[in-house]
Amino acid sequence: ATPMSIMTATGRGAQAGVLIKNAEALERFEKVDTLIVDKTGTLTEGKPRLVAVLPEAGHDEAEVLHLAASLERGSEHPLAEAIVRGAEKRGIAIADARDFEAITGKGVKGVVDGKAVALGNLKLVTEMGLDVGDLSAKANARRDEGETVMFVAMDGCIAGLVCVADPVKETTPAALAALHELGFRIIMATGDNERTAKAIGARLGIDEIRADVLPEDKARIIEELQAGGVRVAMAGDGVNDAPALAQADVGIAMGTGADVAIESAGFTLVKGDLDGIVRARRLARATMRNIR
Ligand code: ADP
Ligand code: MG
Repeated sequence: ATPMSIMTATGRGAQAGVLIKNAEALERFEKVDTLIVDKTGTLTEGKPRLVAVLPEAGHDEAEVLHLAASLERGSEHPLAEAIVRGAEKRGIAIADARDFEAITGKGVKGVVDGKAVALGNLKLVTEMGLDVGDLSAKANARRDEGETVMFVAMDGCIAGLVCVADPVKETTPAALAALHELGFRIIMATGDNERTAKAIGARLGIDEIRADVLPEDKARIIEELQAGGVRVAMAGDGVNDAPALAQADVGIAMGTGADVAIESAGFTLVKGDLDGIVRARRLARATMRNIR
């Protein structure tokens, strides 16, 4: 590409809310046919809300939420924020947790009111040797509604479930439809549970779902596709997404996301809406056509 045409494209991109890092990103993007999107904060608003607390027998809602929020106050995860805000809204007291520990992609652990408490996904509680028994059916019913379900454990038993919902961004459905129209295959990659991911993916017409992935898995998924000759763009917003954004042929960061994500990406969508990708693609095509 000539420096002039790239400068023009960069200027037009900026006007359309797409920051283009360099000519290579634009050139490569024209050849991409597969788009991997992170779920939380990319397809969804990334602002989950607490929607239900389901205590097990012998426990009550206030107690379960108190344990959960006391633990999550030490975490910066969006799910943690939802739980703490939910507790505050309901007037639940929050205690200081001791020995707080965050387990990436799984959850949090610590001591609340002198009791060993853990909060997280099925992986976390299974690794602790806990049996979720018939709670699975209850959890699945919520996941089928697109909710994220977390288990709360206390002193070696499950005390209850905490359910959180993260609404899909208003602009996501139309953006995905337009991206399909442009010929992209769209894959969702998420650390969330497969059932939750499928419920949301089905509503949005996502072509393929990779769920229960740890942060380092996202980059590996891209590497595998690339090894098969597929040119991949990856859209994400989180600190966790940075390695995948760097691995992709073109990384696309949400301007509303983490700084490391933006630094690792070739494009940044200023408003954090996926329809910026539609504009970027049209721009890439027009620019490359002018050059040839
Ligand atoms: P993603 O950002 O793609 O949803 P993460 O790797 O951040 O993926 O989290 C994966 C899963 O691990 C979450 O869906 C949740 O079940 C669990 N988890 C991670 N951190 C926490 C936390 N602080 N509190 C509760 N659950 C958590
Ligand atoms: Mg995210």
